[in-house]
Amino acid sequence: MYSIDGLKLSICKSCGALCCKHFPPMVTVFDIVRICKFLKIEPRKFIKDFCECLTLREIVSKSPYKTLKIYVNIIENLLKPRIVSLLEKTIFIRFKLIDDHCIFLNNDNSCKIHPVKPMVCRVFPLKPYTSILEGRLRIAEACPLSKHPELLRKEFEYFRIYVQECKTHLLVVLGLDFEEVLRLIEYLMKIHDELCKDVWGGAQSASTH
Ligand code: SF4
Ligand code: SF4
Repeated sequence: MYSIDGLKLSICKSCGALCCKHFPPMVTVFDIVRICKFLKIEPRKFIKDFCECLTLREIVSKSPYKTLKIYVNIIENLLKPRIVSLLEKTIFIRFKLIDDHCIFLNNDNSCKIHPVKPMVCRVFPLKPYTSILEGRLRIAEACPLSKHPELLRKEFEYFRIYVQECKTHLLVVLGLDFEEVLRLIEYLMKIHDELCKDVWGGAQSASTH
C-alpha cells in the first residue's frame, strides 16, 4: 500500500522530470534567500554561478505570448518615458539551463536543492491561470500528476504562499536594477529566520524532481 508521497514519488520517477527541462524556473527573492541559506553561499556568487538575469524588456521579447508584446507596445507608447525605464531597468532572475535542463537537475532526475527548490517548482503541476496576480490556478496537463489531483494536497496549500510571495516580489522588484535587487536579497538574508520559517519548516515533499 503506497502513501500519497510514495505514489507521487513513483509517478515522478517514471516521468523523467519533464518539468525541469526546456523552461528555466523564474525565482523570487524569497526563493533565493532560502536557497542561499541552504547552500551556505553568498547571493552574488549564487546568482553569478547558477542564474541568468534579464530585464523586463528581455523577458517580454523572449515570451511566446504575442499578446503580452502587443500590450507592452501599446502601454509603452502611452506612458513613455516611465514604462521605458521600468522595461529597461527591472531585473528578473531565473535559473540557467545546461543542455536544455535546469542547472540543479541531477543525472537521476532528482533535484539538487529539493528541500528548498523554488516555489514555482514546489507547486507544479499547479500554475497561475493567466496572471499570478489573480491568484487563480490551473493544472498543467502535460504533467502525469495532473491525472491525480487527489495527490496534490500540499501543492494546493503551497500555491497560496506562492501567490503571496510572487505578488510581494513583483511589487518590490519593479523598477529595481541588479545591485538594488541584490541589496534587497542581502537584507532578507539577515531577517531570514523570521521571514521564511513558516514556509521553510514543513516544506518537504517526496517528489524526486
Ligand atoms: S511534477 Fe510532473 S512533470 Fe514534474 S517530474 Fe513529477 S510527474 Fe514529471
Ligand atoms: S525542481 Fe529542481 S531541478 Fe527541477 S526545475 Fe526546479 S530547481 Fe530545477
